[in-house]
Amino acid sequence: MKPSLEPKILNLEPLGLYIHIPYCLSRCHYCDFNTYRVDTAAVQQYLDGLAQEITLRATAMAIRDRRICSVFFGGGTPSILQASQLIDVLDHCRAAFTFEDDVEISLEANPGTVDLPKLRALWEAGVTRLSVGVQAVQDRLLRRIGRVHTASEAEQAFRLMREAGFDNINLDLMFGLPGQSMGDWVETLDWAIGVGPEHISAYGLILEEGTPLYQEHREGEIGLPDEETEAMMYQMAVDRLRDAGFEQYEISNFACPGFRCRHNLVYWQHQEYFGFGAGAHSFLAGRRLYNELLPARYVCAIAEHGTAVAGSEELSAEMLRSERLMLGLRLRTGLDVQVFKDILGVEDLSASDRVARLLDDGFLCVEEGRVQITERGLLVANELIVQLL
Ligand code: SF4
Repeated sequence: MKPSLEPKILNLEPLGLYIHIPYCLSRCHYCDFNTYRVDTAAVQQYLDGLAQEITLRATAMAIRDRRICSVFFGGGTPSILQASQLIDVLDHCRAAFTFEDDVEISLEANPGTVDLPKLRALWEAGVTRLSVGVQAVQDRLLRRIGRVHTASEAEQAFRLMREAGFDNINLDLMFGLPGQSMGDWVETLDWAIGVGPEHISAYGLILEEGTPLYQEHREGEIGLPDEETEAMMYQMAVDRLRDAGFEQYEISNFACPGFRCRHNLVYWQHQEYFGFGAGAHSFLAGRRLYNELLPARYVCAIAEHGTAVAGSEELSAEMLRSERLMLGLRLRTGLDVQVFKDILGVEDLSASDRVARLLDDGFLCVEEGRVQITERGLLVANELIVQLL
């Protein structure tokens, strides 16, 4: 056994659990997540490793007193697994940890990988929320970015989810795609509003180095909307979703009242979480821990050493403050004024030239004792946050 890198956890706040399933039917052209084309022979070994990791880490940390507020199966495409495989992982979590009564259990599901019996089994096993990768409703755009499903398969998947009992469904949508017009984006938003999910995430495409789309872009014109159009697409999402009754609670996330994603709030509110699986990160007692990235190495590490934690980093007080600022300002509720002042080390907001300028220019505001990014500031939120750090 390797010496444990696990930190001692002292506080009693609820924890989130993240479970990484690193397999997809095929790779989308824009994706740089730690995921691989599914290899059925390797899957069961990976799941055995996952079950072992969950049990061993929970035992090593004697964590029974910490309640779990959320479990998130992400990837990859967790829904390509059989229901019984996912339920087995969930059972290991239940045996190792103490779940809150109203624990949120989310699972990422792609159209074309679910059917009614699978969905019913997941619902009955306690999965409370599904997050569906739709991205766009124009088949030509879906093909362009390497998605393997069609728009009608997305709609059918949504219907099956409802039929199985799910009453908390997120749809992931993307703007700024190659060949996507404003008309396409409005059609996608209106379709999503029309099918009636409880939550919508709207992300702009990011060209990540090393992806096929990035490579194509380097080699020539790929028909991306220009910056101004992309900003208008974002604003269109904000306006249309608000008019349809969704609350924008984070830069890219919109929820019907009562349906904010508990698990993502764990990250944005800088709460602690365990990450299980290949490449998963954990944030515990001021440390970030990293698991082995490659599934095969992850499985070997668990079998040989009883842990797959490959490294850890103690975050300095300065780094913790920066993270809190960066994450907190992504939320529309922003940060408590006193916390914000403590992070910047000022007694008064006007004592910081940067803050005073952003307040004067209408990018930041103070509402009910909290510093928030204004709607105008949302368009340039990332740049604003960088200016403050
Ligand atoms: S389905 Fe999701 S995780 Fe899988 S390749 Fe596509 S974007 Fe990446």
